Amino acid sequence: MSSGQDQSNTAVGRLAHPDKSPRVANRAPHVGLAETSSFDTVAHYFEAAADRLGIEEDLRAVVRTAYREVQVQVPVRLRDAGIHVFSGYRVQHNNARGPFKGGMRYHERVNLDEVRALAALMTWKTAIVDVPFGGAKGGINCPARDLEPAELQPITRGFVDKIAGVLGPTRDIPAPDAGTDAQVMAWMMDEYGKLHGDTPAIVTGKPIALGGSPARESATGRGLVHMYCEAARDLGLRPESTRVAVQGFGNVGAWTARIIAQLGCTLVGVSDTSGAIHSKVGIDPQSLRAHLTEGGKLTDYRGVGNNTEEIPSEDLMSLDCEVLIPAALGGAIHAANADAIRARLVIEGANNPTTPVADEILRDNGVLVIPDVLANAGGVIVSYYEWVQNLQHISWDEREINDKLRTKMVQAYQEVRAHAVQGQARSLRMAAYELGIGRVLEAMRVRGYGGYA
Ligand code: NAD
Repeated sequence: MSSGQDQSNTAVGRLAHPDKSPRVANRAPHVGLAETSSFDTVAHYFEAAADRLGIEEDLRAVVRTAYREVQVQVPVRLRDAGIHVFSGYRVQHNNARGPFKGGMRYHERVNLDEVRALAALMTWKTAIVDVPFGGAKGGINCPARDLEPAELQPITRGFVDKIAGVLGPTRDIPAPDAGTDAQVMAWMMDEYGKLHGDTPAIVTGKPIALGGSPARESATGRGLVHMYCEAARDLGLRPESTRVAVQGFGNVGAWTARIIAQLGCTLVGVSDTSGAIHSKVGIDPQSLRAHLTEGGKLTDYRGVGNNTEEIPSEDLMSLDCEVLIPAALGGAIHAANADAIRARLVIEGANNPTTPVADEILRDNGVLVIPDVLANAGGVIVSYYEWVQNLQHISWDEREINDKLRTKMVQAYQEVRAHAVQGQARSLRMAAYELGIGRVLEAMRVRGYGGYA
């Protein structure tokens, strides 16, 4: 770790601190950037990077649209609501670099626009961290947290029956996302196995008992903490004086909170759908996790020494802290709250958490943003290791996988950082997109895809 001295004059420090004083009071309005849908957000970042790369319009059109979009009905008899028909989606965006890969989200707001956006993000993410996958995403518009396992299981099996034709261990490999977990992956693997024979490599993020990998569950959170360590060196932050706020306390948020606290950082705020809590002296993530596992509400948690208080949910984003980690859903940082963010570093655990308008505001305010396509790639990296182990019928131990994860994440950060500095990119996000798009286009070119002769 660095000496603790402010290194805002380093190359990445300058990305975080452009030639304007932070929090400019009379900033010019962000003309032409209205708040956008999920897909428009990803498309906006893609177009900006494509402009800088000089990609021709006809080629852009190929990459902008998905290879295949599947929508199916998923009828299920609910405990107290009769038969309900949910919609299931699988969008396969691009497979030039390898089989389609991406999570399955169960949430009442899942829709085609969102799944399209998340599928495209996966294409850039797998390319940025250089794993041999393409990009896909799927989901069902069901309220997962209100449903019982006896309802989620038939929903999952019915969904897999209908999309099994486009899945496969060398075609498209699902993984967990918001609202799904190892149990859902186990049902998916089992249902696919009924149709095609036992196929552990059809999903990643499954239970260890079925060929899941050690270190997969914690991987996304652990990867975010690697990003903190790298950026902290650039910004002159030290763990013992770093205060962290985390939005969302599911798989990604809870693991990030736990690992970053182990490093010595102080967790000053956490939120979930019930609301937000704050503590100046620090929230113990393990004790909070235990409280939730016992059925407690996050907002009822009072801390080990009764030092934790409930705050309005929206105040979480503007807490006095060095690092803010959105780890819930998309669009969390938007035009109305971006200016209030006091953190110096935003590490995007969630996918698509920052709208383009907010991204500009953060940049003008000197906040360094480590973008989703880089920051939360730990999950897909260890998914890749799980897939490799399944295909070879071998297993690696946890330490080996965590070491490989660290090497891969640090390498990706350094490559994006170097690209940002050399190419004078406006942000790490732009540099990451440029790097990812360049790699995908090169794979398309040599395969002869998309009109390339
Ligand atoms: P999860 O379902 O396990 O947890 C989501 C958490 O967010 C829950 O604690 C929920 O209460 C909270 N939440 C939802 N809406 C909220 C709101 N408005 N305010 C505050 N909290 C809210 O999901 P997850 O797997 O942790 O995924 C979270 C995000 O990370 C998603 O954007 C997902 O796409 C992304 N992601 C997940 C993985 C993974 O490996 N699970 C990998 C990469 C990216």
